[in-house]
Amino acid sequence: MFEVDEKGIRISGSELYLDASKRATLSFVSHAHSDHARRHEQVIATLATISLMKQRHKKINAVPLDYHQRYLMNDFSLELLPSGHVLGSAQILIERDGLKLIYTGDFKPGKNQTAVALEIQGADILIMESTFGAPQFVFPKEWEIIERLSKFIEKCFKNGIVPVVMGYTLGKSQEALKILGDLDYQISIHPSIGQIVSVYEQHGILFKNYQIYQGEDLRERVFLIPPHLANSHAVTKIWRTRKLMLTGWAIEPNAKYRYHADEALAFSDHADFNQLIEFVRQVQPQKIFITHGFDSFVYYLRKEGFKADVLEATPQLSLF
Ligand SMILES: [Zn+2]
Repeated sequence: MFEVDEKGIRISGSELYLDASKRATLSFVSHAHSDHARRHEQVIATLATISLMKQRHKKINAVPLDYHQRYLMNDFSLELLPSGHVLGSAQILIERDGLKLIYTGDFKPGKNQTAVALEIQGADILIMESTFGAPQFVFPKEWEIIERLSKFIEKCFKNGIVPVVMGYTLGKSQEALKILGDLDYQISIHPSIGQIVSVYEQHGILFKNYQIYQGEDLRERVFLIPPHLANSHAVTKIWRTRKLMLTGWAIEPNAKYRYHADEALAFSDHADFNQLIEFVRQVQPQKIFITHGFDSFVYYLRKEGFKADVLEATPQLSLF
């Protein structure tokens, strides 16, 4: 069914790669994060992913597909399913000779403010991410995250401090912006986040109470920035700030130091450990390959009774 080479996963007997890591003739792109969305001669992706990719590469030769739109290639068919990770993110379901393969890309189950909710379908072969595939990664519920975020901001306001919330430019920032706007906070967003927000808006996701930061007075406002700007002039010139990083890695002790933050909150756009296991139970695959994460996750899958391996470039994979 598929093979693995130096560019990544390729569907056997075809040119189609899945999130190829190097330039390919044809690749499915699961979502627009830069570790998945390379430049290719031609890509298959959702329209939203293509719009987001165009922020980086102006010209893209693409086959845009809606979720659930069937596309025929050689001797197999493919279909994209929502993955709940960021705007436009998709899993790909490939069917050949009655055999179903799902490649998840990055995914997040549950409620999501700015991406279509994850859809789970059965498959024979599952190639899945396992970013947080270790048992210590259990994230708080969404209501708890909102409560903690809100407490952080209120405490800052009470002490005359500007709350700086940090999340990655694509996905986490928009999710945070949506939550903060709906809580009726006034938000200033860094222009790099604003560029992505405008693509979300073009795709019908609307946000409240924000403006693109242009040096305005930030008193009683939340300042939303990407983490790599934690120590930039835009932040250091503010007299008093307190920085909160939004990341699933917040579960690890000392994570805040890695991000130059005062606090870290385990708010992720990935599945946590329990959600990864629950996802697999629902897909019920005969064989699982894991990618993008903890290799040790295979042992937990095997304990659940599944056949699981780390995806590696080995010739025997072409047996599937
Ligand atoms: Zn991602």
